[in-house]
Amino acid sequence: MTLSDDLKATVRAIHDYPKPGIIFRDITTLLGNAWAFRRAVDELVQPWAGSKIDKVAGMEARGFILGGAVAHQVSAGFVPIRKKGKLPHTTVRIAYSLEYGLDEMEMHVDAVKPGERVILVDDLIATGGTAEGAVKLLRQIGAEVVAACFVIDLPELGGAAKLRAMNVPVRTLMTFD
Ligand code: 5GP
Repeated sequence: MTLSDDLKATVRAIHDYPKPGIIFRDITTLLGNAWAFRRAVDELVQPWAGSKIDKVAGMEARGFILGGAVAHQVSAGFVPIRKKGKLPHTTVRIAYSLEYGLDEMEMHVDAVKPGERVILVDDLIATGGTAEGAVKLLRQIGAEVVAACFVIDLPELGGAAKLRAMNVPVRTLMTFD
């Protein structure tokens, strides 16, 4: 088995969640496995080992868990990107597309300084709507988005390709159909 197969085996499939016909990729089983959690974090940041990263931005909520560990690994600060109305200080906000409809995400206006080098982290990329919104938000306040990292890619939904078309290098560790 390859590393990807070993890691992949720690992700649980939940059928018909959150609705009939959907297979939800549950990463709590990966996070709960000490070997898999460490390995996933190590592998996510491997291309940027030794490069200067100022901030890691993680998307609510599973991006907080992985992003916090990644930030520690690359000695960077951590920036939460949250659903609207959750952050206490002045924010910048952007609308982003979900599978059905729109939502809004926010970050603190002073969380990243212009020119700072940022890695974006989430557990999974599907259509890319969430990550696209986060990249736009970061660029709006002058961040340099060095890369976007995800444990899981669902390539048929086109999200990784969408980010690459925005000149964002994308790193993913495994794919599911
Ligand atoms: P996108 O915006 O790329 O269509 O969807 C990605 C977002 O939805 C991510 O924040 C991710 O956490 C969440 N998501 C969608 N489907 C799944 C899934 O099957 N498993 C997990 N763990 N997260 C999912």
